[in-house]
Amino acid sequence: MDVSVIRDSVDLVSVAEAAGVELKRSGNRHVGLCPFHADETPSFTVFPDGHFHCFGCGEHGDAIDFIQRLHGYTFKEALKILGVDRGPLTREQCQKVKTLQHRRKLIEAFRRWEIEATDQVATFCRACRKVLGEINSPEDLETYGERYHDLAVYEHHLDILAGNDDQAKLQLFRSELYV
Ligand SMILES: [Zn+2]
Repeated sequence: MDVSVIRDSVDLVSVAEAAGVELKRSGNRHVGLCPFHADETPSFTVFPDGHFHCFGCGEHGDAIDFIQRLHGYTFKEALKILGVDRGPLTREQCQKVKTLQHRRKLIEAFRRWEIEATDQVATFCRACRKVLGEINSPEDLETYGERYHDLAVYEHHLDILAGNDDQAKLQLFRSELYV
């Protein structure tokens, strides 16, 4: 069986949490106290592609490595623990893995866009405020007055991006205003 298929069929965040590691989301990563060394600051990081790295002790690997090192298991034993030791995946399981991989890629792309769009909108806001701050004649107002409207729109979009309403964010994403 292809090891990369196994790796992608296992959610390392759930595996680590099941092993007692408390994880918190931080951007597109999850961080927590490292189970491999006496960690005082959360150094253990799970990346969206399903591997972990500890910035304290340098432990590094995928879900299989995690289980092996945590319990001192062999590769085969780790597969058993992860419930993926029963020979080749069925067609249905393969499909499920593919769907998971696809969904993970979409989520990663969405989170990347979120960060980039926030940067972009913040830059637009600053530019608007600068122009508006320099208005000092009726002619200027005539020329640049529309920036008041633009600024209101950008500020609204910033609120959406900073908030927790993924539906509203998705709408903004689909509007392709910021790419
Ligand atoms: Zn560590």
